[in-house]
Amino acid sequence: MFGSLRVARIIGIDIEINLSWLAILALLAWTLSDSVFPDQYDGWSRAAYWVVGTTSAVLLFVTVLIHELAHAIVAKRRGLDVPRITLFIFGGVSHMSRQPQTPGEEFAIAAAGPATSVVVAGVSLGGALLTMDWNEKVSGIFFYLGTVNVMLAVFNILPGFPLDGGRVLRSIAWKRMGSFRGATRVASGVGEMFGYGLLLLGATILLSGYALNGLWFMFIGWFLLNAARAEAGNMQLESILGRLTAGDVMHREFELVKPGMSLQEVVDDHMLARGERAVIVANDGAVRGLLTVSDIRKVPREAWPHTPVQGVMTPRERVTTVTVTAKALDVLRVVSENRFNQVPVLDDGQMVGIITRRELLDRLQLAESLAPDSGGESPPP
Ligand SMILES: [Zn+2]
Repeated sequence: MFGSLRVARIIGIDIEINLSWLAILALLAWTLSDSVFPDQYDGWSRAAYWVVGTTSAVLLFVTVLIHELAHAIVAKRRGLDVPRITLFIFGGVSHMSRQPQTPGEEFAIAAAGPATSVVVAGVSLGGALLTMDWNEKVSGIFFYLGTVNVMLAVFNILPGFPLDGGRVLRSIAWKRMGSFRGATRVASGVGEMFGYGLLLLGATILLSGYALNGLWFMFIGWFLLNAARAEAGNMQLESILGRLTAGDVMHREFELVKPGMSLQEVVDDHMLARGERAVIVANDGAVRGLLTVSDIRKVPREAWPHTPVQGVMTPRERVTTVTVTAKALDVLRVVSENRFNQVPVLDDGQMVGIITRRELLDRLQLAESLAPDSGGESPPP
């Protein structure tokens, strides 16, 4: 994602921070140190307020990360790949390689987050009680983390997409109705109603003279309303594009090169001459690997004439592939989650084509603009 910074890697998952988050972290640390803690606790030194405020802000980040990791661990246990987690201030997004396939799977993954926040809140509030008589500052940090995690759990369990509560609701409806599509409609309908309800509640509070609280409720309501509508829109897009498969969007001609060929030869005769960003490395009809522009760029230009393809390519067992019957939208998910420029297509273990990200996006955009109710050409991204 643009504007995101990779900060760590935990159990095989890249942890990213959205850059906007750094600004909000600073603002939060300042608010806590300058007003929240001074309002609640008297007689600390100015430095103490800042140390406690900044520590609390950073630990809040850690508890949000724990919430997201809970989703990711449950997802991974159930066989969903989670390449990355991006953290925003109110939570994060666990990027998963596919949608859950059963109601039980969706329920377990969605519920793990808020359940973990409740546990974190309990532990923090317990810590606040235990340390109350011993150290007011430590106890203050615990108390802050406890209350904020209660809020996190409550906010995330609101029944609107993309919040956890919306997913829990969808999984329950899915189980009852037996239809993912129908359940999504129900869940986004409830999310929309909930959004309107909060907008109305916020307006009432605003008109009774509590402007800030009212605006806050209205903001959350507006957020839920938009999120619910976006999910319904996604569903529509999915039904328009759902018919396209990998076989429809791949191209069947791909450049084959031999493992012993030099990089220079590949660049001159296969990439520049044919406009390909990736070639398949094969020997006697057997695919050995994939060689891409990014692989080649890791080798200094002057070494290209005497570097064989073999040493630079991504070997076959490490190449992610899709099957010819995979849905184009799932291919798009694989390509964008992993930031691939291309992915080979297999049919019965045999390589039959290649899909590039650019072509895939072009095809999806074309299909979208030809859909009956799309309103014509969609704007460029
Ligand atoms: Zn969550």
